[in-house]
Amino acid sequence: MHGESRWAAVSVVRILQNEKYKGDLLMQKYYIRDFLTKELEKNDGKLTQYYVENDHEAIIEREIWDAAQLEINRIKEFKRNHQIRELGSSSLEPFYGKIFCGCCGGRMVKKSRKSVWRCINSGKEKGGFCKAKPVEGHKMEEYVSAAWAQLVSQRENLLSGWEKDIAQGNALERLRAAQMKELTEKYPDWFQVAKNTRMVIGEIIIGGDKGCEILFMDGVRLVTD
Ligand SMILES: [Zn+2]
Repeated sequence: MHGESRWAAVSVVRILQNEKYKGDLLMQKYYIRDFLTKELEKNDGKLTQYYVENDHEAIIEREIWDAAQLEINRIKEFKRNHQIRELGSSSLEPFYGKIFCGCCGGRMVKKSRKSVWRCINSGKEKGGFCKAKPVEGHKMEEYVSAAWAQLVSQRENLLSGWEKDIAQGNALERLRAAQMKELTEKYPDWFQVAKNTRMVIGEIIIGGDKGCEILFMDGVRLVTD
């Protein structure tokens, strides 16, 4: 299976930390809004729960399971490195926890009802030392949109890297590369892929001298100005 049909299978898999469950998965105890860990939501009865034994589907799940373990660790490390507790979840901005200040490296945050992202180390009233200017939410979208367009325009050049990851990478690298390959083909415009933001955007660095730097989930890094 390829592409979205494969990801759809993931949307109902509970990610289990314990390896002994690898073959047999309790389906839909949790479901996943994004396809991996951070969007886990408990299934409160909206979806039927059922148990899948190690049948042909488990081959798919196993691949996904491996990717999920790697993603769990990646997120843990990302949070530890950046000293953050939350990454974008359903109730929060998809960019939440992923935007950092290009001047001081601090996190960029957005007050719920405001549309401006600010460095946590800026703001005179709080004794902030960072001089980075705030970034309007729509401006952030524009940067990301421009970066996506740039990525799509370079698709032909990126293909070999994705193919290589798909052939040789670990489960997570294979999955991310396959996603990027497909999404850049199907959704050339950002507004089309925006609903998959969490699948696509790893990190954004903004507010320094370099414009906006975006790290995509497959490891490609782009700078737009
Ligand atoms: Zn800053």
